Amino acid sequence: MRNNVLPRAFRRGSVTLVAMALVGASTGVLGGATAVAENSAAPDPIQPTDVDPDLAAAVTGQMLAGATTMSAELGFTPSAQDVLVEGQRATADRSWVFGGSVVRLPSDVDGSPRAMLFLGHRENGTWRVALEGSQEFASLVRQAPDAVVPDPERPVLAKTADPAPMDAPLGLSLPWKLGDSWGSAGVHGDSGSSRPYNAIDFHGGDSRVLAARAGKIYRFCTRGTRWHFLKVYHDNGWTTGYYHTRYQTSKGNGAHVAAGEFLGQTGNELPCGGRSSGAHVHFTLWQGDRAVGVHGKTIGGWTFYEGSRPYSGYAVHEGRRVNFPASNGSLRNYGPGNTTATGTVRNDGGWVNLRSGPGTSYDKVGALRDGTVVEIACTARGEELTGPWNNKSDIWDRLPDGKWISDAFVDTGTNEPVAPSCA
Ligand SMILES: [Zn+2]
Repeated sequence: MRNNVLPRAFRRGSVTLVAMALVGASTGVLGGATAVAENSAAPDPIQPTDVDPDLAAAVTGQMLAGATTMSAELGFTPSAQDVLVEGQRATADRSWVFGGSVVRLPSDVDGSPRAMLFLGHRENGTWRVALEGSQEFASLVRQAPDAVVPDPERPVLAKTADPAPMDAPLGLSLPWKLGDSWGSAGVHGDSGSSRPYNAIDFHGGDSRVLAARAGKIYRFCTRGTRWHFLKVYHDNGWTTGYYHTRYQTSKGNGAHVAAGEFLGQTGNELPCGGRSSGAHVHFTLWQGDRAVGVHGKTIGGWTFYEGSRPYSGYAVHEGRRVNFPASNGSLRNYGPGNTTATGTVRNDGGWVNLRSGPGTSYDKVGALRDGTVVEIACTARGEELTGPWNNKSDIWDRLPDGKWISDAFVDTGTNEPVAPSCA
């Protein structure tokens, strides 16, 4: 709730990221005689290495198995020819291979490819293969030789299989300079109308696309293209994608990038297919192999909401709403925000009941005295109550211990939700 008399509560936060490049072979085409450096200390950051055909086929199969939602939405069925498998690193005997794979987009879709890191290990003539986000991948990450997965990358890669709760703060800035204001074509799917809506198009400002949080950078669709699809893998289990950019950083796969570090300039590049009209960055949110909708998520101080159609929706910052599409100068980057939203309990010196759910019909599970500062883990809509200043709100705040309090009795400085949706 907003209380104009009392001090406002503020939020802040932080982020990190990571990304790397891959080696590739179109599915099923590769041979294998090319020498591959065993030592990854000074790899060519760009040129992919060939991948054993059996490994490429196994990776392709897993990528296609995970692309069913995409195919239904796009009205096309990806086949093996649409899958790119790029090796980044391998041991001298080629029994360990690390790389990336993408399902390329058809040319009539604004989006970015489904892009996943993989690890392959050949044991007794059989490939053990896993994509990021799986426990198998985390297991291989821990076992792989340093030449294939250097120690600094192990935690963030293993974390893809052990992500933060969906309602945990993202700790992400918007992907440009703090304090600058860009425009947005709105919230949409990674492939236009595909669900979930895990993508936001941004344009304008100085056109310099920056890492939304520190992490490790990886490159996809590197073969035969100068500018690549960049993803940054963050310490907290979230991954962000940056498509269409050009004049990119020269940092190679697995290199550390700081929060706010330059990644590339907005553009219309299509290294993995798709389409783009007007220089922008197609910014996407992931957890492991899972695209995560941005609805209710706070990035750069703005909580994003999708609309009924792609390229609509809106964003809210401290009660101020910007509808999409929004022109250049509309969205100021307030930074990664608080890792924890807070508020102050207000009830004219009295107590406020805590409930087991978002309404007074739920069990009473405690009470807090006027003036208590609380952390708000997430929010939901529930029973509308009237607070101490005759203020009404149907927002309920869930505390870190799982108990609920009506936002009508919590001063957060705004009448809007201050934490992500609990859904
Ligand atoms: Zn887009």
